[in-house]
Order: sequence, then structure tokens, then C-alpha cells
Amino acid sequence: MDKAPDLPPLREVIARHGLSASKALGQNFLFDEQLLARIAAIPGKLKDKAVLEVGPGPGGLTRALLRAGARVTAIEMDRRCLPALAELADAFPGQLTVIEGDALKIDHGALFDEPYAIVANLPYNVGTALFTGWLAGEAWPPRWSSLTLMFQQEVAQRIVAEAGSDPYGRLAVLAQWRSVPKLAMKVHRSAFTPPPKVMSAIIHVVPGKAPEGVSMRRLEKVTEAAFGQRRKMLRQSLKGVPGAIAALETLEIDHQRRAETLSVDEFVAIARELTV
Ligand code: SAM
Repeated sequence: MDKAPDLPPLREVIARHGLSASKALGQNFLFDEQLLARIAAIPGKLKDKAVLEVGPGPGGLTRALLRAGARVTAIEMDRRCLPALAELADAFPGQLTVIEGDALKIDHGALFDEPYAIVANLPYNVGTALFTGWLAGEAWPPRWSSLTLMFQQEVAQRIVAEAGSDPYGRLAVLAQWRSVPKLAMKVHRSAFTPPPKVMSAIIHVVPGKAPEGVSMRRLEKVTEAAFGQRRKMLRQSLKGVPGAIAALETLEIDHQRRAETLSVDEFVAIARELTV
């Protein structure tokens, strides 16, 4: 690999550009360059690969991605960060494009004409909204090749949860029916400046095979009803979903079971039988 340029320490960049962390923008920065290099390694080899980074902030994770050889397109809504990111773009000519804006309002797919890996350390509310959007695309496999996302540890556990466990619910089913999510790394709260109240974890998701004859919309209907009343038996919780009770009969799924005992495959099978 080409020699990566020497860069000033992140703390110096932040001080020089007056980038105090904004609570309103959910800013908790990572400064430990070894940790950042380990995060940038999660998607696999990035040399010459296209990467979408959402929320680069002062550019800690961005520089780790650039050092790994990625071609990064980064979306950041805090304009105070743009001069620091412009310095990074100068240090890695041709490797970094920065877009100022709200990632929730930008069509990410339109920015790429090749598969791209998504990497983000985002405020938790924005991260969850983007994540469900990335999972919901009509076309499958999606244009993105993997997602490497920092979440509050509790949310990460809900995404990878297995049937029968406490954190298992809607998010697990939506994340697992045609994608494969894994818990890649736990990150201690003390790694962030300022430290958030809770622990974090990074999940890595790759697209899986889409089961035939099922739409996300139908799956959402079943999981919403089933987990909306998760302590109730299925014959009660699925009562209002057209075709669901008949589906239980056809599939020989016991009406007395509760949502959290159904596997992802069983949810998919019920969704396939719906009449909505
Ligand atoms: N990636 C940096 C790091 O790891 O140190 C910063 C992480 S900080 C938790 C989240 C960043 O996302 C902030 O820079 C914030 O301004 C940015 N951000 C928040 N909401 C955003 C949105 N809707 N679109 C784009 N960027 C956003």
C-alpha cells in the first residue's frame, strides 16, 4: 500500500477548528486511532472500494477508512466540520468527497454507480432510521454491499437477537429475514469524547438471499401486530391481520404460542400467506 500521509492528532484538529461536540447533533467523537483502524477493518478489504460514511464529524473514522485505501463519500450536516474534512481531502487526493447535508434527506444510492460499503457512527436516532431504510429497499440484493454501524449496545443486541431471547422482536426479524447481521465489536463508553451514558456496539450486516413471495410490507404487518402485544397468544395478537389466523392453520403453528417464540422463518412463512 502507498505510504499514508502523516496527519496531525485528531484532538489538535478539533481544537484548531473549534469543534466542541454538539449535544443537539448527537456528537460523541472517537479519537483513538488504533480503535478507529480496527473499526475501519470490519467491512473487510477496502483498497479502491467505494464507501459511504455518514456523519464523519471531524474525520476520525474517515481518516482510518482513507488509510485503508477506500474511496470515501461522506455526508455531514454540521458545517463546522467541513474545513477539517477539506484538509483530509487534500491529504488523500482523489479519495474523499464530502457532501454537506442531512443523510436522512439524501438519496444515497444515487451517489454511486458501483456497490458500496456503508460505515457510520451516528447519533442513535438517526442511525436507527437510516438502518431501517437501508433494510427496506424494494430491490434485493441492495446496492450496498455491507453496513458497519455503531449503535447503542442494547439496540445492537436487538438487531442480532435470536428467537426466544428477551431482546428478540420486530427489529431482529426485519434485520434477519434477508440480511445477516453480526455483532462485530463492543465499544466502551469511555472511548468517546464526551462519553455517552450507555455502552455501544458495532454491527456488521451483509445482504442475504431474499425469501420468495414475501414483501417487507407484509412482514412489517405481521411483526407489528405480533410484537405489539408480545405477551399475548398469536390467536389474539394476529386477529386483525387479514389471512394470519388461516396461515397459522396452514402452517400448523400453534395459536397459543407467543410472538417471541416464532423463528424468523416462521414469520416469513406467515407473511407469505397473508391476504393483504
Ligand atoms: N464519525 C465521527 C466519529 O466517529 O468520531 C463522529 C461521530 S458523531 C457520533 C455523529 C456525527 O454525525 C456528527 O458529526 C453529526 O454532526 C453527524 N450527524 C448527525 N445527524 C446527521 C444527519 N442526519 N446527517 C448527516 N450527519 C449527521
